[in-house]
Amino acid sequence: MLPRFPSKLSLASLPSPLRPLSRLSAHIGGPRIWLKSDDLSGSTLSGNKVRKLEFTLAAALEAGCDTLITCGGLQSNHCRATAILAARLGLKVHLILRGDPPDHLDGNHLLDALVGAQISIYPAKQYHHELDALFEHWQQHYQNLGSKVWCVPTGASDGWGLWGYLNASIELQNDFERHGIEPEYVICATGSGGTQAGLSLGFALQQTSTQVLGMAVCDDAAYFKNKAEHDIREWAALLDRDDYARCAPAFENLNVQTNDAYIGPGYARAYPEALETIKLLARLEGEILDPVYTSKAFYGMLNEIKKGSFEHCSDLVFVHTGGIFGVFPFRDELQRTLNQNALFTGVENA
Ligand SMILES: *Cc1c(COP(=O)(O)O)cnc(C)c1O
Repeated sequence: MLPRFPSKLSLASLPSPLRPLSRLSAHIGGPRIWLKSDDLSGSTLSGNKVRKLEFTLAAALEAGCDTLITCGGLQSNHCRATAILAARLGLKVHLILRGDPPDHLDGNHLLDALVGAQISIYPAKQYHHELDALFEHWQQHYQNLGSKVWCVPTGASDGWGLWGYLNASIELQNDFERHGIEPEYVICATGSGGTQAGLSLGFALQQTSTQVLGMAVCDDAAYFKNKAEHDIREWAALLDRDDYARCAPAFENLNVQTNDAYIGPGYARAYPEALETIKLLARLEGEILDPVYTSKAFYGMLNEIKKGSFEHCSDLVFVHTGGIFGVFPFRDELQRTLNQNALFTGVENA
């Protein structure tokens, strides 16, 4: 029941690997946990945003745009992926970033600057109150210079970006068939909602039994239900009449599942259990999670396994959505976590 796909650029290194985390599963005595390594979607493009941008930027080019404007936190993985892709495609890019101007360039922000993105940084309060106006201001600025602008919303989560993880759900279904598994859940970190919404929609359209659980890193479950419905309406409006009619039963009854219990003190604010989870995965499996997204989602999954929420499950798939460059700005917190290891040796096995 899949609709015809719109045009897409080939920008990501895909398909990404799916592999079982056998030592982790043995360590926790739980179900089989598989890692879908979307952190390998590209070296500097690492992460989930490039899957969405393959569709978004195809639409932007088709519309004749030569300039991209997008937004996010100072260490936004999405802004970094957009900035690098703009350089690859020969487009201009302006980033509207949220935060305080840092003393030095680091992580994603450093890469943004290297590839020549124009960067404006706004205090969080102003950013939250004036984001629409800031987009309009910069759009007008570039239009006055004779440019044609495409505005990409936060995380590229919109009707175009949704195709990226709808497409990924098909790739995952092929992975499952190759490995002979029928996972009960696919689990991902959820920030702007597009990854979760695209996967949820994709498995519903494929009519498989796999469910999608988003682990929120900001905002609550009600927010993400609304956000998914909004993005899917926008996506559906791009379908032709036949596809719309065929797909409607799947998206009209879509079950958007979000767990919002693992946000901790707030977006991009690390907490001890998440940092410990980074250490655990690094040592047991040689996989590096990030402090903002994947470690909170992974910790949430492990804790829900412990609580028995997945008791009936044989296979869980965790989507590694990237974030490697966001690790480095957390050097102080991570160093403290590593130092504690000397004091509490073996605590992970307790
Ligand atoms: C953006 C991001 C997410 C969240 O994906 P959304 O589609 O925005 O919900 C998860 N992990 C990483 C590393 C990200 O950069």
